[in-house]
Amino acid sequence: MEESLQQAESRVAQLRAQLNQYAYEYYVKDQPSVEDYVYDKLYQELVELEEAYPDLITSDSPTQRVGGKVLAGFEKVTHDIPLYSLNDVFSREELVAFDQRVKKSVGEQVTYCCELKIDGLSISLKYENGRFVQGATRGDGTVGENITENLKTVKSIPLTLTEPLTIEVRGECYMPKKSFVALNQKREAEGQAVFANPRNAAAGSLRQLDSKITAKRNLSTFLYTLADFGPLEAQTQDQALTELARLGFKTNAERKVCHTIDEVWAYIEAFHEKRAQLDYEIDGIVVKVNQFDLQDELGFTVKAPRWATAYKFPPEEVQTRLVEIEWTIGRTGVVTPTAIMEPVRLAGTTVSRASLHNSDYIEAKDIRLGDTVLVYKAGDIIPEVAQVVLDARPKDSTPYPIPTHCPVCDSELVHLDEEVALRCINPKCPAQIKEGLNHFVSRNAMNIDGLGPRVLAQMYDKHLVADVADLYKLTKDQLLTLDKIKDKAAENILQAIDASRGNSVERLLFGLGIRHVGAKAARILAEHFGDLETLSHATKAEIVNLNTLGDVIADSVVTYFENEEVHELVQELAAAGVNLTYKGLRTSQLATVESPFKDKTIVLTGKLYQYTREEAKEKIENLGGKVTGSVSKKTDLVIAGEDAGSKLTKAQTLGVTVWDEQQMVDALAASQVG
Ligand code: NAD
Repeated sequence: MEESLQQAESRVAQLRAQLNQYAYEYYVKDQPSVEDYVYDKLYQELVELEEAYPDLITSDSPTQRVGGKVLAGFEKVTHDIPLYSLNDVFSREELVAFDQRVKKSVGEQVTYCCELKIDGLSISLKYENGRFVQGATRGDGTVGENITENLKTVKSIPLTLTEPLTIEVRGECYMPKKSFVALNQKREAEGQAVFANPRNAAAGSLRQLDSKITAKRNLSTFLYTLADFGPLEAQTQDQALTELARLGFKTNAERKVCHTIDEVWAYIEAFHEKRAQLDYEIDGIVVKVNQFDLQDELGFTVKAPRWATAYKFPPEEVQTRLVEIEWTIGRTGVVTPTAIMEPVRLAGTTVSRASLHNSDYIEAKDIRLGDTVLVYKAGDIIPEVAQVVLDARPKDSTPYPIPTHCPVCDSELVHLDEEVALRCINPKCPAQIKEGLNHFVSRNAMNIDGLGPRVLAQMYDKHLVADVADLYKLTKDQLLTLDKIKDKAAENILQAIDASRGNSVERLLFGLGIRHVGAKAARILAEHFGDLETLSHATKAEIVNLNTLGDVIADSVVTYFENEEVHELVQELAAAGVNLTYKGLRTSQLATVESPFKDKTIVLTGKLYQYTREEAKEKIENLGGKVTGSVSKKTDLVIAGEDAGSKLTKAQTLGVTVWDEQQMVDALAASQVG
């Protein structure tokens, strides 16, 4: 007995140290080093040991504390009513045991409100007389961080309520899966560290000292409770959610009131199936006693309510063997490793590749060729290597040698500034030039159809094209020397290239691939400076003066045009008849536009025939309309092409006006610029 107490004591100390380290990485740094279920398993072990040896419980044990610490740099906010965590269950048996405990205390009349467990960050929002005055993170439950300015940039958070109430509302701030994928792709291309999952991406975005960064991250919210229901007429959680929606908050529509635990289980199973199709990540289901009077009777432990539990989904992951690591060079020289694995089925698709992001990632996880690895999908979408299965490692395995030279041009790879990425900084590296050509012809740039990566690579390899200006010198005979390009295809390519000569200059500006200049910045620059020549002489101060563009973009543009070769390229483009002026509308002209699109929020869906989506979007925006991706109550008009799906259905349900393609084309033609 004595010995087992001693053993337990040392294991408890070990577990606490480990869990505290993981919690620090997860809550404070927003960069977890292990999967949640690894943390959960160790946590569970600690709970069981503390149950067996209650004397070992200390107030600083992770089982007695909520969440993380407050970051330096943020003002602290004390929560008058604490924000709790939730106790977890991992199986049907544990869920049934929870139900029995609840019923033993409050009787059989209990019903449960089941909600999706949104994998985001807890937030608390204070309103005074209906106005948003303060927003905070949960922090350690009692003290959180003041992130009001950042939360003001989250569009789903109402700044004014539909009633002048003084209340504190709580819920989850999250990053939609699509935004998470796009953010990580961008970060990887820029050589920055990627976020492990949407939750960490949301947390990292909310805890920015510069709210301009938060604003760009496309966060959203689901609110689900009030600190104190006093001012509202709600007797149940279900009614509370209805009330919150009435006040103007975004609530999650998937909740369900269940009368038996079997019904709860059916709900859990249904969403286990559906979770991959949701636009946001969930990591389980929260089961709450629905009736508030029964919740009051049950009360709280130090850490969590006794009237609720979170069923956590089991991790979806599979083992496979890593066969090779492939290194590819991006347009800006960032070198990215990809794991090539034996194909396996994972959450509905066959997976054989996973980005390994950068060399640090490989070294931190000690990933080696021939290793058996555990693979999962981050944000339910992107395959990621979670860890190596060390027990299955071949005896003769050696650490993976990180390349020191570019696999394409053999120049030495470097780390720039604070970047985690390795870069090839040879501007003549063929891989970079090919990527640059791909970018130039892409949809948001010059939009030249028919020039896929293979065709461009061949053109480059056969010395037909060395830079983007050469595309405009191509002849039909040259095109016919390429694999699989016959008469018709060659003509189509030449026609597409020719058509691109007339593009408004923002497309060219974006297509040139100036670092940090995305499609939006290109448009702002083009509109302001009017043509490439004027922009090429712009000073940093003039660019920063545009207000919406920061130092980084301004520096990058100025440096780009300092390069003599760039001026030669621009001259070549001009000589080839490529338009170098801005042809779109100016913001000042928008005031005089007369069009049914002006100041309207519009969604395009389904297949269009007369324009591409991009073209239609551009035309509508030129007429002062705003084109967004999803249908909501705020949408004024949905333009439904052929085979329009769920967006059309949603528009019909919400009673939003729907047009077909022809109506849009007619309205575009009839619109007038004053
Ligand atoms: P939790 O995430 O397990 O559950 C509580 C939280 O769920 C609430 O605070 C709330 O923010 C959220 N939630 C989402 N939808 C909700 C809804 N509909 N109703 C009520 N609440 C809802 O608890 P936690 O304390 O935030 O975090 C603990 C968990 O964090 C662990 O279980 C573990 O998975 C993870 N973690 C991981 C690491 C790691 O290193 N990977 C480290 C620490 C913690």
